[in-house]
Amino acid sequence: MSVSLPKTMSAVVYRGVNDLRIETVPVPQIGRSEILVQVAACGVCPTDIKKINKGTQSPPRIYGHETAGTIVKIGSSVRQLCVGDRVGLHHHVPCMSCHFCRHHAFAQCQTYKRTGITAGFEPAGGGYAQFVRVMDFCLPGVVKLPARNSFLEGAMLEPVNTVLKGIHQLPLIKDDIVLVAGAGPIGLLFIRLLSLRGIQVVATDLIPERRRLARRFGAWRILDGAAPDLNESLQRLTRNQGLDAAVICVPVDTAVTQAQSAVRGGGTVLLFAHTVHGTTMPVDLGVICVDEKKLTGSYSSDFTLQREAARLVFSRRLDVRQLITHTFPLQQTDEAIALAATPTPKSLKIMVVQEKPVCV
Ligand SMILES: [Zn+2]
Ligand SMILES: [Zn+2]
Repeated sequence: MSVSLPKTMSAVVYRGVNDLRIETVPVPQIGRSEILVQVAACGVCPTDIKKINKGTQSPPRIYGHETAGTIVKIGSSVRQLCVGDRVGLHHHVPCMSCHFCRHHAFAQCQTYKRTGITAGFEPAGGGYAQFVRVMDFCLPGVVKLPARNSFLEGAMLEPVNTVLKGIHQLPLIKDDIVLVAGAGPIGLLFIRLLSLRGIQVVATDLIPERRRLARRFGAWRILDGAAPDLNESLQRLTRNQGLDAAVICVPVDTAVTQAQSAVRGGGTVLLFAHTVHGTTMPVDLGVICVDEKKLTGSYSSDFTLQREAARLVFSRRLDVRQLITHTFPLQQTDEAIALAATPTPKSLKIMVVQEKPVCV
């Protein structure tokens, strides 16, 4: 099957700090071992917002990395994928053979650190464009979508994978009590996935609507993250034993301090939202050494969890559709990003969607 492709397309080009422009750019060319995907949906992710708001990378770039769409062209040596396949994409895929990969530290692998999906310019994901080129080393990250699942669900595979990776780092057993600080889209994913594993989740957030949602996603108890007696409440809920673990889904340092005192000896505090280098805070090293409390972090996805993430999303045991509150057309990507950057009580996951296929 072949389709006639346009020569140019619309893309949201990052031209500098908070400067996104709709531009007409060439449809990417692909090599023998690559594929071209027509984008149908792309999630707005906090890591892209950070790059756009803070200018941490040089322009021009086309961002957007939580992408799902339809394959419209394949290179001559590509097997197992066809034109017309509906797919979800992963823009980082590890080599699986280097020293880091052998240690399961995929996010530190040099191949993984390369972004293998682009709509032009320096590769940056490209999902805020009509077409993306998927490079050869990212083909193992292409996941076919079952017919009953939507592109929106497909675009959630990458964020779900990052959350699963975080959970796999926690040494938990059934009925453990775990704090999830922050009940935004990522926090809600943690709440649901932890509760599916038989964990009793205590969720905190400052926004009452989000606390209610946390309950709907399976939280065992909900608390106001700003309550002055938060620590006492956590001790009471754990019968003074302390939390088995805490996941910090907000980039708030006091939440880390609080969690460190609320976890039990040998418990773990997992950082998930402190994604900016240079953030420092005092740590009582005796708490780490004598009390054996672990302070750890998790970033990005784990290739070996791709199947598990897909199974959870496609079976709807983890129904990600409940998380998607807003969709914007490509032309309004800046509005989508602005809303995701300053969420309202009613907004959770924001998606940029392209309803009308250009071809196929
Ligand atoms: Zn993301
Ligand atoms: Zn590697």
